[in-house]
Amino acid sequence: MLRSLFNRIRRKIGLSYRKDNRGRRLVAVIECIINQNARDAGAATFPAMDWDVVRLCNQYHVGILQLPCPEIHFLGFDRNRKPGESIRNALDTEAGRESCRKISMEIADRFQTYINQGYQILAILGGNPESPGCAVHIKEGALLANSGVFMKELQDELHKRSIDIPFQGIRDSDPDMLAEDIEWFRKILSQNNKK
Ligand code: SF4
Repeated sequence: MLRSLFNRIRRKIGLSYRKDNRGRRLVAVIECIINQNARDAGAATFPAMDWDVVRLCNQYHVGILQLPCPEIHFLGFDRNRKPGESIRNALDTEAGRESCRKISMEIADRFQTYINQGYQILAILGGNPESPGCAVHIKEGALLANSGVFMKELQDELHKRSIDIPFQGIRDSDPDMLAEDIEWFRKILSQNNKK
C-alpha cells in the first residue's frame, strides 16, 4: 500500500529511478513483414514473419512500427471485390486511394510525434514488386506510378509535411532480390548505428 502511494506520487512529479534504455530509432514496416498471416491466400513466403528484418532490428537496437495492411483495411481479410476484378484495380479507385490516404495520415501523425521528440525513423519497408498496396519502385527517391497505392499515398502525405524517409521494398518473392534488400537494410542500420 505504501509502495503504491509512493509510485503514484513519483508518477505525478515525473520522478524516475529507472534507467530508460530505449534506442530512439525505429523503422516502419508493412504489416505482412512481421505478420505473414495478413497476406492474400497463396502469397505468404514465411510461416510467420521475415526473420532477417526482425533479427537485424534486434541486432542494431531499432524498434519496429507496423503499418496496417491497406488491402485488409479497404477490402477486408478476404479481399472482397467484384468478380474478375484484380486487387490492384479495386484498390486503385477513388475510394481505395481515400482509404490508403486515411491510414497514411494517421501514420504520418505518428511519425511526426516521434520526430518532434528527437527519434529517428530510418526507413519504410514495403513489399513485393507486384503488390497492389505496397510495391516500391523508386527512382531518385520518388515512387514511380507502378508502386503500391498505399506506398504512394504515404509518400505524398510525408512530402506535404516535409518528412523525408527512404522507402525500400522487401522483395521476399525471390531469394536473390530478398538478399539484396536485406543487405540494403543492413547498410542503413549500420550507417545510423549509435551502439
Ligand atoms: S497489401 Fe501490403 S501489407 Fe497487405 S499483405 Fe499486401 S504487401 Fe502485405
